Amino acid sequence: MADHFQLRLVDSHMLAPTVRHLAFERVDGQPLAFVPGQFLQVHFHYDDGTPTKRSYSVATVGDGQSPVQRIEIAVSYVEGGAATALLGGLEVGGEIDASGPYGRFCLQDADVHPRYLLLATGTGVTPYRAMLPKLARLLAAGDREVVLLYGARSEQELLYGAEFEAFAQAHPGFTFHGCLSRQPRTEPRPDDRAGHVQDVLAELQPHADRDIAYLCGNPNMVDAAFTALKEYGLPVAQIRREKYISSR
Ligand SMILES: Cc1cc2nc3c(=O)[nH]c(=O)nc-3n(C[C@H](O)[C@H](O)[C@H](O)COP(=O)(O)OP(=O)(O)OC[C@H]3O[C@@H](n4cnc5c(N)ncnc54)[C@H](O)[C@@H]3O)c2cc1C
Repeated sequence: MADHFQLRLVDSHMLAPTVRHLAFERVDGQPLAFVPGQFLQVHFHYDDGTPTKRSYSVATVGDGQSPVQRIEIAVSYVEGGAATALLGGLEVGGEIDASGPYGRFCLQDADVHPRYLLLATGTGVTPYRAMLPKLARLLAAGDREVVLLYGARSEQELLYGAEFEAFAQAHPGFTFHGCLSRQPRTEPRPDDRAGHVQDVLAELQPHADRDIAYLCGNPNMVDAAFTALKEYGLPVAQIRREKYISSR
């Protein structure tokens, strides 16, 4: 159930030139209960006093089940953006108003399909970071496969790339494809792919009997991948979507 609380910034660093990782704790000291894949809303006011809010997926890697003390998000800066100004300028110790968790972009216990196709662009990869402990448990049974297709323009924009690569090495059923649309890595890796995430689907030959797909991030990517997956025969119920649109 959604709750309303104050968050205090305890740590931050830049993940890429225009993407900031922020770690918060609740000012009331309570942990946050959330299901990996859910998001929070940040509430604030425009300069004229009008209230507004923006959504951010929880990026925290907990154990996938228990409430977490540390609430992490990744914020991609948008030129002229109101929340960008607030979250880009927030200093350690600064407080914001938030509520949540919200959303149903989560792994579901009832899913029995053997392969998960996780597609993301930009900060749209953060829900999958939070899902890693649960994915590890799914993979441990040995009868599931997970493929993460992560689209970015260049290596510098593959957020948490090293973490996903380490997870892939530790979990043989997990494949991480960095899909680079503009510039290949200086030292390309075997699982790298050139082009947009939706273009890499052809290689994977999605199939209704095998796949559940999750799409998160840029609305254009989500729409293009949704259309492509339907053409491969996936029913809409097997395609879960989270579009990062501004909720102004
Ligand atoms: C469910 C959900 C989860 C989300 N999770 C995240 C997340 O984890 N991390 C994250 O960074 N964002 C996330 N977003 C997007 C986020 O809520 C804001 O929309 C985003 O941060 C821009 O807000 P802003 O106030 O800075 O810009 P705004 O003041 O809303 O917009 C400023 C200007 O930029 C344009 N604009 C807005 N967004 C974009 C964009 N992405 N690209 C180009 N132009 C744009 C607007 O049309 C406007 O002209 C999520 C959105 C949803 C719906």
